[in-house]
Amino acid sequence: MALRFRHNIAYKQARSVLLIAIVLGSISTAIQIYLDLIQENKSSLESVQRVVSLHKDAASSAVYRLDGASAHIVTDALISHPAIYNAELRDDFGDIIASSFHEPQTESNFLIRLAAEKFNINTHVEEKLIIENSVKTGTLYVDIDKVYIASDFTGRAVASMLLGFLHAVVMALALLMFFYRYLSRPIVDIANWIAQLGRDKQIDTLPYKSEDELGYLVKDFSDLWQDRQQKNLQLNSSVAELSRSERFSRSLMDNAGDAMFLCDTATRIIRLNNQAEKLLGRINENLINEPLSQFSHQFSDQTLTAFYTLIINDEVTTYEDDFITDEGLVPVEVRANRINLDDTDYILLTARDISLRKEAEKQIHELAYFDPLTKLPNRRLFTDRLSSAIELHKENGSFGVVLYLDLDRFKTINDSLGHGIGDEILCLIAKRLENVLPAKATCARFGGDEFVLLLPETAETEELCAEYSAHLSQKVLSVLSMPYEIEGQQLYSSTSIGLAIFPDENLQSEDFLRQADTALYRAKSLGRNGFQFFDQEMQSSAQERLQIEKGLHQAVDNGEFELWFQPQYSSNLEMLGAESLIRWNHPDGHVIMPGQFIQVAEESGQIIEIGNWILQDAIEKLASWIEQGLPESFSRLAVNISPMQFMQVDFVSNVFRTLEKWNVPGSMLELEITENMLLNNFEVAQKKMGLLKQRGITFAIDDFGTGYSSLKYLQHLPLDILKIDRSFVTDIRTGSEDAAIVEVIIATAEKLNLSVIAEGVETVEERDVLCQLGCHCYQGYLYSKPLREDAFVAQLTHPITVE
Ligand code: C2E
Ligand code: CA
Ligand code: CA
Repeated sequence: MALRFRHNIAYKQARSVLLIAIVLGSISTAIQIYLDLIQENKSSLESVQRVVSLHKDAASSAVYRLDGASAHIVTDALISHPAIYNAELRDDFGDIIASSFHEPQTESNFLIRLAAEKFNINTHVEEKLIIENSVKTGTLYVDIDKVYIASDFTGRAVASMLLGFLHAVVMALALLMFFYRYLSRPIVDIANWIAQLGRDKQIDTLPYKSEDELGYLVKDFSDLWQDRQQKNLQLNSSVAELSRSERFSRSLMDNAGDAMFLCDTATRIIRLNNQAEKLLGRINENLINEPLSQFSHQFSDQTLTAFYTLIINDEVTTYEDDFITDEGLVPVEVRANRINLDDTDYILLTARDISLRKEAEKQIHELAYFDPLTKLPNRRLFTDRLSSAIELHKENGSFGVVLYLDLDRFKTINDSLGHGIGDEILCLIAKRLENVLPAKATCARFGGDEFVLLLPETAETEELCAEYSAHLSQKVLSVLSMPYEIEGQQLYSSTSIGLAIFPDENLQSEDFLRQADTALYRAKSLGRNGFQFFDQEMQSSAQERLQIEKGLHQAVDNGEFELWFQPQYSSNLEMLGAESLIRWNHPDGHVIMPGQFIQVAEESGQIIEIGNWILQDAIEKLASWIEQGLPESFSRLAVNISPMQFMQVDFVSNVFRTLEKWNVPGSMLELEITENMLLNNFEVAQKKMGLLKQRGITFAIDDFGTGYSSLKYLQHLPLDILKIDRSFVTDIRTGSEDAAIVEVIIATAEKLNLSVIAEGVETVEERDVLCQLGCHCYQGYLYSKPLREDAFVAQLTHPITVE
């Protein structure tokens, strides 16, 4: 930038120097003029006096001699002095002897007038003329031309002033030249050079090279500049390099094809590429510093942070997740790498949308494991599930069942009505099956009209499992035999079922399927719309159970039940009481034992009705015996009570009502209950027992020793008797394990202040061991088998013998 002239440092210097020179010069000139003025005052007077005294003698003698001519010469001589314009010689009397005069200078200007004003002199000089030292002869008068003196003086003063001014100007110019040459010009040059540098950024030559302060300044500046240029150059190239590498890495990221996220260890996004934004459906949104967990379906903030620790420790390198996007969940496969930058760990995630793959996998899975028509599992999936069920059942000891279904005459439907209708029926069957099956069952289609059902964990025993399966089979058969409404027509179909119960030692899933298939074949050959177990025994027992359940419906109404009584004896063969045991006189002529139907009745709920009948009948019989007269030793009749019966809300009132009806004292009735029943509903049982106890009714724990035998429970119940289970009694020998258990039972009874009775005593040996251990009441074949009522009544009065 060029400096404007007014701001030019040389101009400023010159102006100042000039000003100072003029001011100083003026002051010094003024002082000088003033001093001159004083000097002029004095010297002009002296000069006049010198002239006067020079002519004084001649004047004196002329006056003395009154010589006018000489006097004239004197006065003329006097006025020849330019400063004197009038000279007069007078005698003592004041008469003019001679006078000379010329016009004083009148021409004047302001300066001269000012100077004349300032002259402080006496313009009228008188000089006494004396001769021979004492004789006064006359007086010489002289008038001084003040204007002349002033103009003379002014002329000189002006000249001196002009000179002074000139001097100042010259001085200023000289100084200016000097400063310009040595200071301003170099500075201006330097300034221009620097300004030029700002544009060109190139140093060719230095503007100033002398060895002085400016030279040093330029040199230092030039060094600094060059250094800075160098650094700038380096910086620029680093910046360029950086931006190049930044563009490079960004384009690498953007062209990577996969979504990339750079996250910190707190799962916050530090950087992400276009694909990542696209994947999340958040294009052009600022996702930096957002936690990635907010897009994760599988991970919470906490679990993802914990997971990142695994990634950092290189324990995990890939994982799958579902990203939450506006479009829904997007399954992704993520590759994770730890990146360490400046001692800080980051995680680079490369995520790939695997929706298509997942979809394909799902389709493959469906194709592989499901039947395309009914969407039911296919043989493969079924076999997988069956295999795992078999393993599980081997471990937990429970049983399951495989049901192989085949539609009877489906081929006829298919051939006559077409495959379309056949397919529709198959779909309807699939639906019906799914509706009727429990949640954990698997219903599969093996192709054609073959459906296979898997029912895992149905029961603890094979028998119960068979019973359950028989029920279910019947249900399935009835559901599938209902008419199918298709295109306005009603179609009928029946089904046959083959069943196989698993597990069985060393048999695999295929074996059970074969068994079920074999059973199915038998079912079909036996007339269709039926079911068959592979195991024939199972078949008969299951059928029997079904038969029993069917038969039980009318048994009470038809009076097919009968109570038998088994007496209980003391060591000295006194009859202490009896236990009532139910028998079912089946219409087909068999007597069915309670072991075969009580469980069935419990499960079907028929036990309530049967139990009521038992209670009524037992008390009725007891009432008649009382009336007939019982032996002294006989204290009570025991009645078995099933858990469901006992838990009925009206059980207690029912017992009371019946006792009242037959006028039998409560103390004559003993209720046999099991431990397990008590445990299931302790509080209610306790309360009910308390109420019954108030009427004198006694309680015996049946099958004692086989249940939980928890002392804690027992001591809080109003019990009277513990019935040692037959399993401990059979073949009991001194010192045997059974004997030890019986000993503990007896000790427990003593502690709780209860009596004990042993059931199932068949031999004298058993009785003797029991007696030794401290049990003195017995029930069993050794004394008497259960008897019909008439036989029992006869026994009441007939003493027995044992051995
Ligand atoms: P429980 O209550 O333990 O009945 C004793 C069972 O042992 C009876 O079988 C009886 O005949 C049998 N028994 C008695 N002494 C001997 C013996 O010395 N040797 C052998 N081997 N057995 C003997 P039962 O009558 O077949 O009854 C079986 C189970 O049916 C009973 O076991 C009981 O749990 C149930 N039950 C029987 N009658 C009734 C009843 O009226 N109501 C209820 N709820 N259950 C009953
Ligand atoms: Ca019993
Ligand atoms: Ca028993």
